[in-house]
Amino acid sequence: VGDAILRRQRIRESAARTYARSFPIVPVRANGMTVEGADGRRYLDCLSGAGTLALGHNHPVVLEAIRRTLDSGAPLHLLDLATAEKDDFTTALLASLPPAFAANARIHFCGPAGTDAVEAALKLMQTATGRRGALAFTGAYHGMTAGALAVTGNVAVKEPLPSGGEVTRLPFPYAYRCPFGVGGERGAELSAAYTERLLDDPSGGVLPPAAMIVEAVQGEGGVVPAPDGWLRAMRRITAERGIPLIVDEVQTGVGRTGAMWAVEHSGVMPDAMVLSKAIGGSLPLAVVVYREEYDGWRPGAHTGTFRGNTLAMAAGAATLRFVADHGLVARAATVGARMAARLDGARGRLPVIGDVRGRGLMLGVELVDPAGTPDTCGALPPDPRLAVRVREACLARGLIVELGGRHDAVLRLLPPLTITDEQAEAVLDRLLDAIENAAT
Ligand code: PMP
Repeated sequence: VGDAILRRQRIRESAARTYARSFPIVPVRANGMTVEGADGRRYLDCLSGAGTLALGHNHPVVLEAIRRTLDSGAPLHLLDLATAEKDDFTTALLASLPPAFAANARIHFCGPAGTDAVEAALKLMQTATGRRGALAFTGAYHGMTAGALAVTGNVAVKEPLPSGGEVTRLPFPYAYRCPFGVGGERGAELSAAYTERLLDDPSGGVLPPAAMIVEAVQGEGGVVPAPDGWLRAMRRITAERGIPLIVDEVQTGVGRTGAMWAVEHSGVMPDAMVLSKAIGGSLPLAVVVYREEYDGWRPGAHTGTFRGNTLAMAAGAATLRFVADHGLVARAATVGARMAARLDGARGRLPVIGDVRGRGLMLGVELVDPAGTPDTCGALPPDPRLAVRVREACLARGLIVELGGRHDAVLRLLPPLTITDEQAEAVLDRLLDAIENAAT
């Protein structure tokens, strides 16, 4: 059965969705961290829907919330009307946010993906500032729909200016492959200083932008944490120049990094936060939460049919509460630190591990060619071919991991926050064995 399904999928579906091609599995059941294929094989899932499944697959609390909502007879689709489920979700969401931010925050339901929330946040800040450009970072990932609004014909929803505009790309302080040839604190300071000088240079070519958008830990870019001090510098630099700061917490949110929201590590107060993935408790849900002073949208300025699905809000509220009430944020920090330490400890034995980094249960292992020539920071050349072999070797050992990073040479670990100690050890046993085998 599984083989026939895989064959039909290859014929019928576009190859643009690469996950489907990299994992020749037809999952028939999933529970917690385990996915079972049609062939009866079981896998530990370290991808978790690219970080979506904070509580793993089919968590009883999530299933119960969905069943309760279905049994209640609540309308499943209602455009933007007020419902008890929406009220409950917004209560849970506001309670989870940093209090100073939540105190005067507005929520805008976008939908249904992270990319929709990014578009909404950028457009919101274009409206608020009357400007169009954006500041973004090397290695950033924010979604795939930059053109959606541009191809819309209705000028009324594009006011004041079309989406898009100029993007100024700034160097993200990637400590391992440092943009300024020096890593650590000094590299981050240089990145901040460059940003400041560029913005203040009358010949720098940068028009005042509508916003800066940043991830506190880059996910698809290769699991690269922004140093807290650097993020605070970005907050200061933007605040001094009247540039709204959007923090994209699509992947980092809901406890993943060992804080409920990754901005909490640095104490930075953003002007808007973009949220999706885990906030829907495995169902599609996306919101922008922003400070009310930016609420320049008139009624109808940014609408859409599927925004804030009832079941997703019920599943999301249950997830947010469970993560907060069961110590899962602290657990992500401790289990993640333990996993990172064991991976780091294996570097001596496995020189193909160039760098181990991340925060909480958002971990990255950058694979390199030990025979290559180090760059000025000491980083060895990335080895994307080895990364593909390791991913396959992991799958053969019953472990699902995905790749990311600038060169697709970073193994990304995004296990559910409910991962047990035994599962964490099993993940590392399989991963390290896979690396050892693939490297030789
Ligand atoms: N922002 C970040 C930080 C992401 O990691 C992603 C998805 N990986 C997105 C935005 C886009 O979300 P979606 O795929 O749901 O459109």
